[in-house]
Amino acid sequence: MTRDSRAERDLHAELHGLWGIARPPCWLCGQPIDYDAPAHDPDALDVDHVKPYSTHPHLALVRSNLRPSHVRCNRSRGARPPRPEIGAVAEEW
Ligand SMILES: [Zn+2]
Repeated sequence: MTRDSRAERDLHAELHGLWGIARPPCWLCGQPIDYDAPAHDPDALDVDHVKPYSTHPHLALVRSNLRPSHVRCNRSRGARPPRPEIGAVAEEW
């Protein structure tokens, strides 16, 4: 995978700084994020791509495409679009 990792890392670091002050909740589950947790803690902040990199690589450095999420929420979401209710079981099969 060739992506501009340095520019992305810089932007993510900047967003970490901004969000570390504003402390917005996780946009996937709505719960508070532990902004003081170590980087790979499941409750720590992860920068989520609203439109996944895999399908929208040109949006990787667009701020409006980046939202605060938990490490665990971002990880469990993967490249799928967010479900309306995390943890809810879909009844209509
Ligand atoms: Zn979350």
